[in-house]
Amino acid sequence: MFENLQDKLNKAIRTLKGSGRITDVNVASTVKEIRRALTDADVNFKVAKDITDQIREEAIGQKIVIAVEPGQMLVKIVHDKLTELMGGQAESVNLKGSPAVVLIAGLQGSGKTTFSGKLAHNIKKQGRQVLLAACDIYRPAAIAQLQTLGQQIGVEVYAEPDNKDAVQIAKNALKYAKENSKNVLIVDTAGRLAIDEAMMQEVENVKKAIEPTETLFVVDSMTGQDAVNTAKTFNDRLNFDGVVLTKLDGDARGGAALSIRHVVEKPIKYMSTGEKMEDLDIFYPDRMASRILG
Ligand code: GDP
Repeated sequence: MFENLQDKLNKAIRTLKGSGRITDVNVASTVKEIRRALTDADVNFKVAKDITDQIREEAIGQKIVIAVEPGQMLVKIVHDKLTELMGGQAESVNLKGSPAVVLIAGLQGSGKTTFSGKLAHNIKKQGRQVLLAACDIYRPAAIAQLQTLGQQIGVEVYAEPDNKDAVQIAKNALKYAKENSKNVLIVDTAGRLAIDEAMMQEVENVKKAIEPTETLFVVDSMTGQDAVNTAKTFNDRLNFDGVVLTKLDGDARGGAALSIRHVVEKPIKYMSTGEKMEDLDIFYPDRMASRILG
């Protein structure tokens, strides 16, 4: 579906070969191709521009190795840059504390509940006691969904179906986790279809009340460019610790990972690649760089 970036660059660079060295003048058309490849992969336009400006600086002055395809060399420069910009190394969640408290936030439908189940399943497999808390007080179906997941993976779910106070439920869940010697509490919060003030205030209050060890923002990779704005708003309010990028089993090229990292400067920690409880993947920046470049 996407033309290979390396082929495009080879075309654009043909003229560079003669000069043997990348200069400000002859790099312009290749930079344009790189920028287009990034925006094709859903990288935010402004972010793509920032990144290609940096790549241009780094590429200028480098010798073009005539023996290998010049496109290959530039693709490597771009690949390494994208990997570095996405943090270089994989980063895991902080599960220190007794119990460690993980708060899950994001828009409705982003995959919060599914991710909460997957994380619980993953932690349980490490031999730790996990408690899931259902704090979505607006959709009765959300509580049932978490309870079904809990049963499936053998993890206890704390819920108060008749309580309409999310902060109180979260506090009670924490108390319950402590009293029952749980190692990790995962709190699934409510999401809305779009960001609204009441929702942001509520999740902010939940965060203040339970002081999580780790706050994770969940975002659907299919939402493309919008993902950056959503991430920025959530980060301004919650100062989250990491990002979970979901639905990467679909067509999304993953540009959202690069844009979000660049704009909010927080690591992407997990990627979700399906609805099954086993589909929880650590986020590897170099693999995502390859996916973005196609
Ligand atoms: P929430 O409203 O944020 O809690 O979102 P849900 O966890 O209910 O997920 C919304 C929908 O997306 C559900 O139908 C999930 O099965 C589906 N979903 C969640 N994560 C993934 C994923 O990584 N890949 C795919 N294909 N579907 C997912």
